[in-house]
Amino acid sequence: MSQIRFEALTESRKRDQITIEEQGRRSEIFGQHVFNEERMLQYLTKDALESVQSAIFSGSKIDRKIADQVAEAMKGWAITMGATHYTHWFQPLTGATAEKHDAFFDLLPDGRALEKFGGSQLVQQEPDASSFPSGGIRNTFEARGYTAWDPTSPAFIYGTTLCIPTIFVSYTGEALDNKAPLLRALHAVDEAATNVAKYFDKNVSKVNATLGWEQEYFLIDKALANSRPDIRLTGRTLVGHSAAKGQQLDDHYFGVIPGRVLSFMSDLEQECTKLGIPVKTRHNEVAPNQFELAPVFEEANLAVDHNLLLMDVMDKIADKHQFKVLFHEKPFAGINGSGKHNNWSLSTDTGVNLLSPGSTPMKNLQFLTFFINTIKAVDSYEELLRSSIASAGNDHRLGANEAPPAILSIFIGSQLSQVLDELEGVSKGKLSPEEKTELKLNVVGKIPEILMDNTDRNRTSPFAFTGNKFEMRGVGSKANCSKPMTVLNTIVAKQLIDFKKEVDILIDQKNLKKDEAVFNVLREYIKNSKRIRFDGDGYSEAWEKEAKKRKLSNNKTTPEALQVLTSQKSIDLFESMQVMSDVEVKARQEVELEAYILHVQIEGRVFSELVYNNIIPAAVKYQNMLIQNVVGLKELYVTSYQKLTKSQTNILEAISEHLIEVKTKTDAMIDARKKANNLKDSHQKAAAYADTIKPYFDEIRYHCDKLEQLIDDQIWPLTKYRELLFIK
Ligand code: ADP
Ligand code: MG
Repeated sequence: MSQIRFEALTESRKRDQITIEEQGRRSEIFGQHVFNEERMLQYLTKDALESVQSAIFSGSKIDRKIADQVAEAMKGWAITMGATHYTHWFQPLTGATAEKHDAFFDLLPDGRALEKFGGSQLVQQEPDASSFPSGGIRNTFEARGYTAWDPTSPAFIYGTTLCIPTIFVSYTGEALDNKAPLLRALHAVDEAATNVAKYFDKNVSKVNATLGWEQEYFLIDKALANSRPDIRLTGRTLVGHSAAKGQQLDDHYFGVIPGRVLSFMSDLEQECTKLGIPVKTRHNEVAPNQFELAPVFEEANLAVDHNLLLMDVMDKIADKHQFKVLFHEKPFAGINGSGKHNNWSLSTDTGVNLLSPGSTPMKNLQFLTFFINTIKAVDSYEELLRSSIASAGNDHRLGANEAPPAILSIFIGSQLSQVLDELEGVSKGKLSPEEKTELKLNVVGKIPEILMDNTDRNRTSPFAFTGNKFEMRGVGSKANCSKPMTVLNTIVAKQLIDFKKEVDILIDQKNLKKDEAVFNVLREYIKNSKRIRFDGDGYSEAWEKEAKKRKLSNNKTTPEALQVLTSQKSIDLFESMQVMSDVEVKARQEVELEAYILHVQIEGRVFSELVYNNIIPAAVKYQNMLIQNVVGLKELYVTSYQKLTKSQTNILEAISEHLIEVKTKTDAMIDARKKANNLKDSHQKAAAYADTIKPYFDEIRYHCDKLEQLIDDQIWPLTKYRELLFIK
């Protein structure tokens, strides 16, 4: 056994028996480290508080004097909490978060020391933008970047640092991050949805998009994870034969959480609670060592921040518990990958979930309006929504025989389908009194009862209605939810604006009553968006064929999926909703393509190193042992040796055959990489990585895994699946 593997195994076995008791009441520590409303009440003057609240509620600007007050208050609170530094916490296009810490500590001209933090530091910081991806924005404009405070997401203390959530923009105003477009999309959907909600309730003045993510992840012992160069550098295993036992017994899902893991979770939840992340559920997932954590849903911008913060906290707490968290979408072959379902809805400031059926026909008409408009929006922009979840890691799930498929479709269940069918049959124009009564009582009026027993839940659907929200299931476990949330909210905003226009025309020009106008427009939408609805098995080949007939996109690789971002239709959408400019959209496409290329490139490099430095040497070593054995037997049994050495020579030959394949294919992959690297155009280069390099990975892996099975366990250099998985 290689020294590294041996030490890692010894190290990990020491830790198998850790357990811990659960800690105390969480409600008492909730938000302790957050400058939330309670703290603001305590620390801010009335003016300042109102100003912050109105910024949160209506997006109004906070003036400098007030900012000074807020900063002073934040500093006061942060210092009593032991904070020594502050940072603007932002989301550059790398997908992760970034921070640049500055101390409160400062010197006056006369040399006296003090703790300083004013409005200008709160509102703006200038990190050097040149080291973050900008997709060409920096070259197009003279673009230093600055970060600006987002008062809708409260500041928090992490360790000894006051973190201030911010957007990150260039000096010419282009967003260099994922948060700014999200905020703009949320603003667009707020405005559009509020205007539509007013048809049903004049008191609505704000609509928030809500998001409840479900984070899946793997936990691996740190020493074992570190013993594998592929896990360390790419976050996943490039080779590794399946363990004799995988997930076939279905014994892990919702199983008893191992003590060592529970101890980690307990610590994690404690920390999250202090940071105001309302974590609620935890359980084992389907695959061994796979788990899920989900919070209570929140306003989408806050939920996104909380997910990003969570991933960071998880890394740190895991490290303390000698674990490594794998957020990669497919860390292990042969067992399930990880995703991050995004549960999404719209909720009014009058406390109504617009995607929840209500107790009266009017409320249900409102529900149907938002429900059908969402379906229509997804139908119009299915390909764009697919592009928002594209990444090198997620390609292992979408379009690769794993849940969910790369084709976007919507599941609504048989009962709601029936309601839509009935609505579709409603006659055009004015409704007769009988028709109205029938609609009210028997169609719209029946929805709540129906949903009560609508237990039919299709797990293969990428976009499913689950009673009072839509669940987007294709989001990658490592993804920044900003991206799908920006697209989803933008397309729904656009759809609701179009809807309102159409309804108003019917009311103003055709003299229809509001309800009649709404029914008329919805009926057309139901008719025109049928192709996106699919309640069958999303993984089946039959669906792939059917989807093609329906002209739904099926982009299996990231480079393919990203093309649509810069279509005229997408750019028109983003520009008209004021979510992103032409330049910003193109920049994002460029950044995503570049990220894809780099990921696959790194995997390719690690792969060739593994093959040349670990796998071939191990195979040769074992062959030498066999050869020695054969030679020895031949000396001893001069006449009968052939029979006695048959097994050994068989194995020797099998190893040689796999070795030849491994080496030729690795060399061919390296050649393909060299060719691809000469391409200048990033679309072409990304496509070359997807089509001419990545396919080698599976082929090389196949032979490596065969070698793993043939070679002496004592010699095999890489920690095996059966050792990595199955924490006790
Ligand atoms: P499942 O695994 O069956 O999908 P979970 O309970 O794990 O169910 O997840 C449901 C998720 O949906 C939770 O994160 C929850 O907060 C979220 N959720 C519930 N209602 C809403 C809503 N109105 N808007 C957004 N998310 C919601
Ligand atoms: Mg779910």
